[in-house]
Amino acid sequence: MTLRNYLVPLKVELFIWRIRHKRLPTHVELDKRGVDLGTVRCPVCDNGLETVEHSIISCSFAKEVWIKVFDWWNLGSLPNLTINEAFLGNGHSFTTDVGKQLWQATEWVTGYSIWKNRNAFTFTKAKPTSTMIFKEIQLNCFEWFSNRLDGGVYDRVKGVCADMTLM
Ligand SMILES: [Zn+2]
Repeated sequence: MTLRNYLVPLKVELFIWRIRHKRLPTHVELDKRGVDLGTVRCPVCDNGLETVEHSIISCSFAKEVWIKVFDWWNLGSLPNLTINEAFLGNGHSFTTDVGKQLWQATEWVTGYSIWKNRNAFTFTKAKPTSTMIFKEIQLNCFEWFSNRLDGGVYDRVKGVCADMTLM
C-alpha cells in the first residue's frame, strides 16, 4: 500500500496521512479526545454521527460529489465505498500504473475537497453544493496533475482517461 502519490500536493498527502492515523478532527474523534462540542452529530446533514467515514463518504452531499466523480471517470454507479477502498487502496479499478495513480489521486483530491468544504460550512454556514465542489475537484485535478506530469506521461494519461473532460 503506497501512501504517496506524486500527482497531488503535500497538503493532500497529509490529509490522507491524517485519515490513516485517525487524526481527522471530526466531532466523533474530538469527542474521543475529550473535546466537548455538545454534539457528535454531523453538522452538515444532522443525519448521522460525524465519523470520518460519514464526513467524506456517506454524508448526503459527500455522496452526491462521489456520484459525479464516478460519472466523470465513467466508472458507473457508486459502489458502497469504505475509507479503505476510497483512500488507502491503490486505484485497483485500473490496469495500468498511470491509470491507478491518476484514479488514486482523484479519489484523494475528492476527499480533500469534501473535507475542506465541510469545514468551511462549519464556520461560515455557507452550505456547499455538490456541483460547486465537483468543479473545484476537476480544476484542482487538472492543475495539479498537469503540473506534475511530463509530456510523455501526459499523452498516455489522455489515452487512459479519454473521458476526463478537462484533459
Ligand atoms: Zn452528514
